[in-house]
Amino acid sequence: MNPTNTAQPITSQLIDIVALRVSGVFPTARPPSIRTLRDWTRLRRIPHHPLKFTRATGLLLSLALCLTGTSTRSAPPAPLPPAAEVYFSPHGGCTEAVVRELGKARQTVLVQAYSFTSKPIAAALVAAHQRGVAVTIILDDGDVTARGSVIGVVVAGGDTVLLDAKHAIAHNKIMVIDGAVVLTGSFNFTAAAENSNAENLLVLRSAALATQYTANWHEHEAHSTKYAPAK
Ligand SMILES: [Zn+2]
Repeated sequence: MNPTNTAQPITSQLIDIVALRVSGVFPTARPPSIRTLRDWTRLRRIPHHPLKFTRATGLLLSLALCLTGTSTRSAPPAPLPPAAEVYFSPHGGCTEAVVRELGKARQTVLVQAYSFTSKPIAAALVAAHQRGVAVTIILDDGDVTARGSVIGVVVAGGDTVLLDAKHAIAHNKIMVIDGAVVLTGSFNFTAAAENSNAENLLVLRSAALATQYTANWHEHEAHSTKYAPAK
């Protein structure tokens, strides 16, 4: 960068700081040091710049940079997650993806499941309830007597479980998280689906799809009955 020969008003200097920051001369994650600012003014041959560079001046410059639209401390924005991801069983990360998405739930989790024996997924659904997320699970009524079912685990953990007995089998396996993310696919929430079967799981970040899945979930909710374990 070529130094110029003329002193410039402070506003121009600030804009130049922004430019220098963008070009990598100044650090992006923290304010330039007093020494850097001194060198900068010397290079530009600003004879009697109006600022005496002290820590307070540095803070003032930082504030001015914020006002000109460039935060001195802001990290670059985190990249958005992909709109859709897919995982394949066996051992392709389906269970981890479900647990990870459940870990990000803040308000609501709606579930439809057929066979439900996955302990990590049951634990994630209980953990969501325990941090205040409303978790409601619709299961095929066969889960009450199915071997290895974790229905008792999630009910004991505070999740609400409904049973859908209206169909030959209630075969959906979906989750709608915070009205924004849909998990769906052939992947049952079971250890076998993770370890033994050929399955797929889609993670879809789409409020529009979440709305459609939520509407369908409520249709099944309407003819389902609340599960209460026998005492
Ligand atoms: Zn139904």
